[in-house]
Amino acid sequence: MSAMFNSLQKILFDRDEDAPGPSLDNMLEPMDRHMDNFDEFVPPAPESKPRTPFDCDVPKREIGLTNLSVRDKMRVIPALVPLFINMQRGARLYDGKFQPRQTHASPEFLAELEAMAKEHGAKDVAYIKVPNNAIFKDKGIPHQYAIIFTIEMDKEPIDTSPSFECQIEVMHGYKSMAQISMKLANHMRKHGFAAYPGTALGGLTDYPHLAELAGMGAIGYHGLLISPTEGARLRINTIYTNIENLPLVDPADNEHLWVRDFCSMCRRCVRECPVDAIYDEPKPRGDGGMQCIDHASCREFFTREYGCAVCVAVCPFSQFPYDKIKDGFKGNPNATQFQIEPIYLDDIPVVASDM
Ligand code: SF4
Ligand code: SF4
Repeated sequence: MSAMFNSLQKILFDRDEDAPGPSLDNMLEPMDRHMDNFDEFVPPAPESKPRTPFDCDVPKREIGLTNLSVRDKMRVIPALVPLFINMQRGARLYDGKFQPRQTHASPEFLAELEAMAKEHGAKDVAYIKVPNNAIFKDKGIPHQYAIIFTIEMDKEPIDTSPSFECQIEVMHGYKSMAQISMKLANHMRKHGFAAYPGTALGGLTDYPHLAELAGMGAIGYHGLLISPTEGARLRINTIYTNIENLPLVDPADNEHLWVRDFCSMCRRCVRECPVDAIYDEPKPRGDGGMQCIDHASCREFFTREYGCAVCVAVCPFSQFPYDKIKDGFKGNPNATQFQIEPIYLDDIPVVASDM
């Protein structure tokens, strides 16, 4: 917990203005180490990519958050403190001690879980058997099934990006995800199911990749999920579980993949990214996914300018209803087709922890 509060203190009040800004990788690293508590875990595929590094050498004095007024710094605290507390609580569930009592959930239990998620602010809920190629290189997860949920970020503050108002909306999104995943995980454990919340800030698996495979939407050229209910104004989180009879969908049945055909005619995010960090066309990756962003270029602007999010705001799906765009789209047979092929290593047993 103290590492988290040190990070918060450093983000907001550290006076060493020449020091580099806070490191997300350093914040996530102690949580990654919780997987050491497991004798066995589900491994990544040989093709898996590493988690995108998110360290940046921008000096603190040049970071938007550092230069906030005291009043605005006070507005950050109600978002970040519950986020950090729930992330820490979630990490503690990875102590390797929970013994599940059952592996099959009734439809009533899942309906209750979905209702609970939505009551606390989730917009959409879906299920997946996590492909090994969606697990980051050198990481692992406790169980191969996952509940995925999204939360929506409000249009008005996102439209002001890059700005503090936009960043605080994003922070509240992260806070909600951490709170929802803890509530659901506790409820699942009470009923005997294994439940391990994914880290709200990004963790062991590639969340947009999972969400697309679960049929929740499609990844746009900005590398973010576009969903029919939230456009690109969403955040994603997961709960890994041992529930084996989740109502899975076939990734091949995803009805939203037309979105990428639309992207290849739109490219508004490509044009409006302030630092030209979005590729004109995504590059296929070795793990079956798509590389959409030059992360090094994005990261510096992102760090200086309140987490940027211009690409989220300008995306037509964040501005107009999904169905309206779909109805007006005549198709694009020349669009390059990208597919994210799930790779399952079912014939390889979970491996003993030696990370
Ligand atoms: S702005 Fe256009 S190209 Fe970019 S993700 Fe949205 S729809 Fe696709
Ligand atoms: S967050 Fe900003 S800098 Fe990064 S890709 Fe999106 S628009 Fe570009």
